[in-house]
Amino acid sequence: MQRIFMFDIDGTLTPARQRMAEEFIKFFLTFCKDNTVYLVTGSDHSKVLEQVPDEVLGLTSGVFTCSGNQYWEGESLVYEKEFKAPEKLFTYLKDKAEYSVCPVKTSRHIEERTGMMNFSTIGRNCTQEQREDYYHWDREAGERKQIRDWVKHMFPEIDCVIGGQISVDIYPMGCDKSQAIRYVKEKHDNAPITFFGDRLKPGGNDFPVYSAMNQESCAPLDIATPVENWQETMRILQEVYND
Ligand SMILES: [Mg+2]
Repeated sequence: MQRIFMFDIDGTLTPARQRMAEEFIKFFLTFCKDNTVYLVTGSDHSKVLEQVPDEVLGLTSGVFTCSGNQYWEGESLVYEKEFKAPEKLFTYLKDKAEYSVCPVKTSRHIEERTGMMNFSTIGRNCTQEQREDYYHWDREAGERKQIRDWVKHMFPEIDCVIGGQISVDIYPMGCDKSQAIRYVKEKHDNAPITFFGDRLKPGGNDFPVYSAMNQESCAPLDIATPVENWQETMRILQEVYND
């Protein structure tokens, strides 16, 4: 059965928050012509269009955005999952933002995105310096851990993970990158998958992919390949999968 290739984008195909390198584009175009390729990212579709050139996107079978809460084939949106957070959760988060003892507070504490919610007590309108200060403060204070534990305890059907430097991501259980794996498995009759990601460790946003691959419904031939950057992705593709 033909192997399916799935890639995270940020940090795996591109430098963080930037466009794919020309050198890699050239190689990857050929790779996509010869293989079945899907992309899976936490970002939204407009960000993907900035980072990955049209000619590469045109050669992929599909693109999962917003951690698999949206799925695109070409320019058409195949499905989209919405997340309606319980009122009690909103109340808690608003209180948390108001009464948090974190050193600085700005605004934009709650951001609703497709299929998920992002929450930050310092607020997303902080400067880069404030962002780093919060990160160091939180490492000692453990505020985000406490928020995560409360959310998971109070709402067993909702997941909460610490993301980036200042926030937590909140979404229905299982509505993470693992849903992309399940979707592709079903579509391709359980074909073996190779996934490349730069955040495959526990707590990383690619980790749900790793967990999904280790569930018995998946073929034992699945491979999750951790990489440090796009250069490593390119090197492994050239050395291992280029025949
Ligand atoms: Mg990444």
